[in-house]
Amino acid sequence: MTKNVPELFGCMVFNEEVMRQRLPHEVFRSLLKTIEQGKEIDPSIADAVAEAMKNWAIEKGATHYTHWFQPLTGVTAEKHDSFLTPVGGGKVMMEFSGKALIKGESDASSFPSGGLRATFEARGYTAWDPASYAFVKDGTLFIPTAFCSYTGEALDTKTPLLRSMDALSNQGVRIIRLFGDQETKRINTTVGIEQEYFMIDKAMYEQRKDLIYAGRTLFGAPAPKGQELEDHYYGELKTRIHDYMADLDEALWRMGVPAKTKHNEGAPAQHELAPVFSTTNMAIDQNLLMMTYMKKIAEEHGLVCLLHEKPYASVAGSGKHNNWSIGTDSGKNLLKPGKTPAENKQFLLILAAVVKAVDDYQDLLRLSVAHPGNDHRLGGNEAPPAVISMFIGDDLQAVVDSIICGTDYKDKGRSKMNLGIPSVPTFTKDTTDRNRTSPFAFTGNKFEFRMPGSSQNMAMPNIVLNTIVAESFCQFADVLEKAEHFDEAVEKLIKETLTAHSRIIFNGNGYSEEWKREAARRGLLDLRTSVDAYQAFAAEKNIALFTRHGVMSEAEIRSRQEVMFENYAKLINIEAQTMVEMATRDILPAVNAYTAQVAAGATAKTSAIKGVNITMETDLINTLSDLVGEGYEALKVLKKADADARAQQAGEKMAVAFSQSVIPAMQRLREKVDAMEELTASDYWPLPTYGDMMFRI
Ligand code: ADP
Ligand code: MG
Repeated sequence: MTKNVPELFGCMVFNEEVMRQRLPHEVFRSLLKTIEQGKEIDPSIADAVAEAMKNWAIEKGATHYTHWFQPLTGVTAEKHDSFLTPVGGGKVMMEFSGKALIKGESDASSFPSGGLRATFEARGYTAWDPASYAFVKDGTLFIPTAFCSYTGEALDTKTPLLRSMDALSNQGVRIIRLFGDQETKRINTTVGIEQEYFMIDKAMYEQRKDLIYAGRTLFGAPAPKGQELEDHYYGELKTRIHDYMADLDEALWRMGVPAKTKHNEGAPAQHELAPVFSTTNMAIDQNLLMMTYMKKIAEEHGLVCLLHEKPYASVAGSGKHNNWSIGTDSGKNLLKPGKTPAENKQFLLILAAVVKAVDDYQDLLRLSVAHPGNDHRLGGNEAPPAVISMFIGDDLQAVVDSIICGTDYKDKGRSKMNLGIPSVPTFTKDTTDRNRTSPFAFTGNKFEFRMPGSSQNMAMPNIVLNTIVAESFCQFADVLEKAEHFDEAVEKLIKETLTAHSRIIFNGNGYSEEWKREAARRGLLDLRTSVDAYQAFAAEKNIALFTRHGVMSEAEIRSRQEVMFENYAKLINIEAQTMVEMATRDILPAVNAYTAQVAAGATAKTSAIKGVNITMETDLINTLSDLVGEGYEALKVLKKADADARAQQAGEKMAVAFSQSVIPAMQRLREKVDAMEELTASDYWPLPTYGDMMFRI
């Protein structure tokens, strides 16, 4: 059966082409301006757009519409309303007004607000984001929206994201104007998101309460085989997985998500899916949609898709690589080294801006990926460390070194150029090996931020990236706009910036022990846990940054920080309670039953043959009984730690208690239980094992 991909691609999306066909010309032009330049929407066109959208959606089978938003829960929210409007005589019409398209009202009181929204003022508003296409899914027209409180404070992730994109554009345009670009009206940030995930058979998933409640295994002895043979990465796709991926691709294409690359990842049963990049807000909406479909299509194949950062303790976890770039509204990538020295001067200034931003705001970048699930990855063996550094590759490093030292730059294989700052060389784009151990790597024409976790909404990493780079641009523009001799001033600024911030650049192995020591020597931040990172969020310098660029107010920052602490405590509490339940009701009884069975067997053997060898039984009964006793003690300690943590004041204090006492208590219980698993007969063990879950699919 052939698939006509160009025809089915985006067939459920109210995209530019559909708008062109269905909107009156003037309305279309006006809307396009809003989309392309971030201009405010002209409210007078809303009715026409709403009418066209409704008619199109009905043709696609829709009966309802919903404002689709991203509250601080980490997942998306939707409330469906039908187009139905009574017209008297017991009849109805299908209606959708411009007002209903632009603004929705919803009860905000059940969404996390971190104290922003007083409970007596429960009203919240959703506002249409015209720059992200509406689409029809499951008989409903989905309209991407921002979500704010009655008083206008953001209660979601999209609002600050859009503000950060504006901030970067405003400051970036100042920079390129200085280099003579008078045409560009807007600078866009583009993002390509690589999504890693695990698949598991649904029947096994359903036997694991930990996967159901916490999304990850809280117990589990390592399987005899892990990823040591490196035979899974890019390996042949199993038929079942292949079929799943094919259906997923098709579903995503229909929804206008340009799914492009798919392959097996490092760990058994781990995979990756990457779409083609797009404008940041659209890429993030599409990533959220993609996660929804990854789970939905899995069900159709008797599978479950695990998006948690660390479903299994002994193998690699899942990340979400954020490939980030900036470009002009005419599509010119500003992170691409140019062909002429002048272009390269602009490139080097932008590179210097990013280097400075990453160094100045290591804490915010770390914060942007702080998530309980990601704590199992960062600093682990397969993922970037919790320390932020950046990789620029050998070619660019040579350029940077020559600038800092004022020496010659040798373009490999070509003629030697006298750099003798102030002149700037031409150079080819990064040709060196890629560095998979760097948290933030330059990859030729974009940066790959590799720390985000697989389950995260990518808004926060991009809010931070956009804002910190906007700040560097702002500082640079302040200097350069006043400079008498522009060329000299640029060169001086590049040199000074790279010199001052070179400590953040590290091209070596980010997973090595030496790097940990070296990073400490360089004075780089090492915020090990999410809680450490949350604490850094509301530092004075960070509040100053976000408010200066109009991305988040102090109240919005503090409320978000509060939500982070609360969310952390809630998640760890769920994990602790799940462990308690599994150990008490499933695991310890199973081990006791097995021990009793072994004991009964030993008694039977001894009564049959006096003095028969029962060393195995004796050892097993002793060891398992010790483990059960110790496990029981660990269980009590965990219950107490959890109760004590919950008794703390909600917010920071509670999060700290969960991080510092509950997590270690969980770890101790797990060690005992995993040791029991290794000694208990398969018939008695109440859970699918790591081997079952990762290899039998
Ligand atoms: P890797 O080799 O790092 O696994 P992939 O091909 O899986 O790379 O993913 C790279 C991602 O980067 C893709 O989503 C791709 O569309 C995206 N990308 C490419 N160019 C840009 C750009 N200019 N801005 C943002 N993302 C980009
Ligand atoms: Mg990839």
